[in-house]
Amino acid sequence: MKYSLNWDLDSLFSGGIHSEQLKTKLATTKTAIAALDDLLDRWDAASDAPHYQQFIKLINQLQAIEAGIGQAGLFISAVGSADFNNPDVAPMEAQLRDLATQSDNVSGKLKKVLVQVPDANFTAMLEQPALKPLAFNLQEMRDEGKSLLDDKTEALISRLNLDGKAAWSSHYDSLVATVTVPFHDADGNPITLSAGQADNNLLGNADPQYRAELLPAWEQAWADKEQLFADTLNHLAGFRLTEYAAHGTTDFLRQPLKDNRLSAATLATIWQVVDDNKQFLLDYLDRKAALLGKKHAGWQDVEAPLNLPGSQLHHFTYDEAAAFIIKHYGEFSPKMAALAQHAFDHHWIEAEDRAGKAPGGWMENAPETHESRIFMTFTGSPNDVSTLAHELGHAFHSSVMADLPYLRQDYAMNVAETASTLGELIVADANVRAAKTDAEKITLLNAKMDNPLAMFLNIRARYLFESRFYQLRQKKLVTPAELNELMLNAQKEAFGHDLSTYSPHFWASKLHFYIDDLSFYNFPYVFGYLFSLGIYAKAQQTGNFEDQYIALLRDTANMSTEDLARKHLGVDLTKPDFWLAGVKLIKRDVAEFMRLTDSLVK
Ligand SMILES: [Zn+2]
Repeated sequence: MKYSLNWDLDSLFSGGIHSEQLKTKLATTKTAIAALDDLLDRWDAASDAPHYQQFIKLINQLQAIEAGIGQAGLFISAVGSADFNNPDVAPMEAQLRDLATQSDNVSGKLKKVLVQVPDANFTAMLEQPALKPLAFNLQEMRDEGKSLLDDKTEALISRLNLDGKAAWSSHYDSLVATVTVPFHDADGNPITLSAGQADNNLLGNADPQYRAELLPAWEQAWADKEQLFADTLNHLAGFRLTEYAAHGTTDFLRQPLKDNRLSAATLATIWQVVDDNKQFLLDYLDRKAALLGKKHAGWQDVEAPLNLPGSQLHHFTYDEAAAFIIKHYGEFSPKMAALAQHAFDHHWIEAEDRAGKAPGGWMENAPETHESRIFMTFTGSPNDVSTLAHELGHAFHSSVMADLPYLRQDYAMNVAETASTLGELIVADANVRAAKTDAEKITLLNAKMDNPLAMFLNIRARYLFESRFYQLRQKKLVTPAELNELMLNAQKEAFGHDLSTYSPHFWASKLHFYIDDLSFYNFPYVFGYLFSLGIYAKAQQTGNFEDQYIALLRDTANMSTEDLARKHLGVDLTKPDFWLAGVKLIKRDVAEFMRLTDSLVK
């Protein structure tokens, strides 16, 4: 094997979870936070004028602290993901969260200090060469400062959060680690699957019968612990709603929209486009069901591979996957290819298929060393190759911003999914083009449909569920039965009542509902997907798009999303036109799929 399936974490902090380097980092960060807090207490805008040297020092220190916390945070979560049952990870996570809280407190204090700065001084500050690149971010911090409560109350909320929202989120991880699915292997021998393994098989196993039998066992595994998951979700959301109320809002979408630097008008336009344009995907699902010998597809079939007679589903070795991604990235952007090559060469990726790993995939940035780490489980399917290309897209986004001030790298979730989705699109298209037979092409087009199906149907369901859950949670604790019903109805509505089976316990199995520092981790994906489709279409018409694309990525933490699209793409996101151009690309794939499969169904 040319490339390692395991990542190198020692180059971040040597010695695993008990690393002395890590301990030192946490200790020095703690000292730095206290020093910054002290500096902030003594800072006065009027006496710092006209060059604001003190403030520049202050903001640089804050950025260094946050980068250090990011570096340590990546390391600790990497160790935990790769060794899911390691009992020594949780205490380190708690220690880091404590530091992050202290840092957030200082940052919150800074925001309020900025509110006190007279407008004239603030404008003059932003004109300083050292602060000019941070103008948007400082303005944003000052605006946030206006809704904050007094220091003592904010500090209390932060401390309570450690045993509140954050604790419930990490409790979710502990609960998931105890979930096992008693089932059988392909030959009927009894086996016990971890949640991650069961999830991979439920969505990715090639045998429709195996998937159909696994769904009830999967549902039962979550049903057995549904009260525990319901408690976790209720308290996490309850804490969040109380926090919102304390800051003067009952609108649970306000913060997620603000976090994404996105307007409600744009989000409404996106959902309208999705709802108006899902019929062709439901037709596609019916066709897929027919190819599987069924009238309607089940929940477990939506993302399933198609094994048509005569199509040998291409199994990638890890090295083949790496070479494939690097080659096709290179056709779009040589700089993307170089970054992917660097990631494989420098052991940034943990991809081994083994027990004891957390489910899912992610990319996290190591801000101090200008690196990234990618976590996933690689089994060799085209889908896994796409996932790898997705995470490498994230890594590329981080890499083109690595030289910017840390605050300027703080891009929002919706644009975070842009580079990743684009990376994935490039590789999925290349997969289809490389097909040698019609049957293979059908199989690959099917794999490529995972994304639009997820965005338009599955994630639409998550959004419907989450909105309705929060509405209900504002009034009461929501019972497991109600959660199941909310989820079932959301799935039926999003999938146009077209499926033969659903997954009512999806609310328990999906990590995204349990993230403590953000809610509604669903619409940013849909935004990112459609946004990158639009960019992809544009790239095909424009010469030398690489530079334009990188310029857009570098501006992702420097303006509102609407301004970003206007500046770099010349489009208005509150109008459907831009989004419909992306939808057109998906429709083209579906039309091709329908044409190729026409003769295969009666
Ligand atoms: Zn992603």
